[in-house]
Amino acid sequence: LNERLTGVFDRITGRGALSEKDVAEAMREVRVALLEADVALPVVKEFIAFATERATGEEVIRSVKPADQVVKIVYDGLIEMLGGEEPVPLNTNATPPAVVLMAGLQGSGKTTTSAKLALRLTKFDRKKVMMASLDTRRPAAMEQLAQLGKQIDVAVLPIVAGESAVQITRRALQSAKLQGFDVLILDTAGRITLDEGLMNEVAEVAEIAKPVETLLVADSLTGQDAVRTAAAFHARLPLTGLVLTRADGDGRGGAMLSMRAVTGLPIKYLGAGEKVDALDVFDARRVAGRILGQGDIVALVEKASQDLDQAKAEKMARKLAKGQFDLDDLAGQLQQMKRMGGLQGIMGMLPGVAKMKGQMAESGIDDRMILRQEAIISSMTKVERKKPDLLNASRKKRIAAGAGVDVQDVNRVLKQHRQMADVVKQMARGGPKKMQQMAAM
Ligand code: GDP
Ligand code: MG
Repeated sequence: LNERLTGVFDRITGRGALSEKDVAEAMREVRVALLEADVALPVVKEFIAFATERATGEEVIRSVKPADQVVKIVYDGLIEMLGGEEPVPLNTNATPPAVVLMAGLQGSGKTTTSAKLALRLTKFDRKKVMMASLDTRRPAAMEQLAQLGKQIDVAVLPIVAGESAVQITRRALQSAKLQGFDVLILDTAGRITLDEGLMNEVAEVAEIAKPVETLLVADSLTGQDAVRTAAAFHARLPLTGLVLTRADGDGRGGAMLSMRAVTGLPIKYLGAGEKVDALDVFDARRVAGRILGQGDIVALVEKASQDLDQAKAEKMARKLAKGQFDLDDLAGQLQQMKRMGGLQGIMGMLPGVAKMKGQMAESGIDDRMILRQEAIISSMTKVERKKPDLLNASRKKRIAAGAGVDVQDVNRVLKQHRQMADVVKQMARGGPKKMQQMAAM
């Protein structure tokens, strides 16, 4: 992609800002790259609209090639659409046993993934895990799970011939509870195609077992079919996450983006081979790199963001010197805080703050506050961020709704911004000397 974009941007290097036309041209290339990576068309469209908005009007920074800059915007956008840099951990918080239900089509990798997950939970999380096969139609499938259990030294519910999936579920729950297992993994039966009978069975099992996690296991190599499967399952079962198998053979990663966008569900793991330890925690950065078709994209993006950070810091310094500080600047500060490990990370660097931490938690000051503030600022339009005075009651209401908070929270962010802007203004008025004094404080 970068090569393609370099072609587009060679002509426009050195201009002030990325124009609509430049961006449109670049996005045509991005579109082709995404389609080649097997991203579903509606998802491509949604993504292009989103990235276009991000890129248009973005200032061209002299030390960064516009092509790299757009690649960075696209890369960041992909990560966001894939669910962010932080993986969503598997939830096992429940009165034991925490039930993890594995659903999916036959051959998608449910049984293998059950064992991989069991191994992970025992090895890394020191959980006591039991597995049970509900695949009553294929005795060989039950035997397969029993074998895997032996291999990784994880308990498997003994097979009783003639039981229904629901009966096995009840027995597994009781047995896991009595024997004090932390986690019970239920490996369900799969059919070649979606069918009603199977869906009803899985739905009934879910109702009885009340899983904390219901994971859809899907074969990433089946591309668009996997996306349809995910949507169909999600319509019938309250899924909590996805596991995409055969990622080791999927060089493009497009199905992953589609699946995430269509279902809105977090991708929790990637199956990366047939062996029992071949299960990776989902890493959006790696997948975004794959989609852009560039092995060295991470290095490139890191370089670009360093340069961008540098340029932004300089720009910020110039603005501050003029006494300006808008809501974008506040958002930038929040970003910086997050990068330093959030409030906890920053506080952790200060001695003797353990007590204060507790007080802060009590008064609701924590990292969620940073996220909330960011959500509020990003629900504002570009113009509103530059001119907070525009924010009347109806705009505030819209922003609060967009960020999923109360108008009060919006007001709180604005107050904080006003206070900081006042300080900046005072500093600028006092001249360089005063500024140094205050910075030292
Ligand atoms: P199930 O019918 O959904 O239970 O699927 P299985 O777990 O039996 O897996 C079907 C086949 O896919 C087996 O041969 C597995 O070894 C293979 N398989 C499962 N996950 C992966 C994966 O992540 N990568 C590769 N290469 N093969 C996998
Ligand atoms: Mg199976």
